[in-house]
Amino acid sequence: MKRVALFPGSFDPFTKGHEDIVLRGLGLFDEIIIAIGHNTEKSNRYIKIDKMVSLIRDTFKAFPNISVQTYAELTAEFARKNNAKFLLRGLRNTTDFEYENSIGQVNRYLNAELESVFLITSPQFASLSSSIIREVHRYGGDVSMLLPYKL
Ligand code: ADP
Repeated sequence: MKRVALFPGSFDPFTKGHEDIVLRGLGLFDEIIIAIGHNTEKSNRYIKIDKMVSLIRDTFKAFPNISVQTYAELTAEFARKNNAKFLLRGLRNTTDFEYENSIGQVNRYLNAELESVFLITSPQFASLSSSIIREVHRYGGDVSMLLPYKL
């Protein structure tokens, strides 16, 4: 059976740190679905969701086993519907760990067949976050080195 992983997130915007997790995930999974959630708390996006979808699709156009979708429901439920048995997430620091630990427990409770898999960030991306990119870009700073596409 194909090993399908869901890589869920806000991706506002999708960064080179996210790209790194996806590419390394290809060593573990046959197929990766990048799933952009419409989180109610973060619904006020910096980059419109349709634009983000097409930028990410373009980034991975050479990879037929990487797809991009949006969703507005429980991640565990969206994974079930897409036959994804794995949730791929990245860990940068203890703050990420605290958050991922609690969300991972909830996801296990919601879908016991869904296994969360965490990849430790590559050191060059350890300080890279979507929020930092938004701040720099908003004031006209150059973020091209931090993104796998041109914004
Ligand atoms: P969320 O709103 O779900 O936290 P994000 O888009 O911020 O969504 O992040 C999606 C996933 O990517 C999370 O697991 C996050 O920890 C991980 N991630 C974000 N930035 C990096 C990075 N620079 N290196 C590794 N993992 C990262």
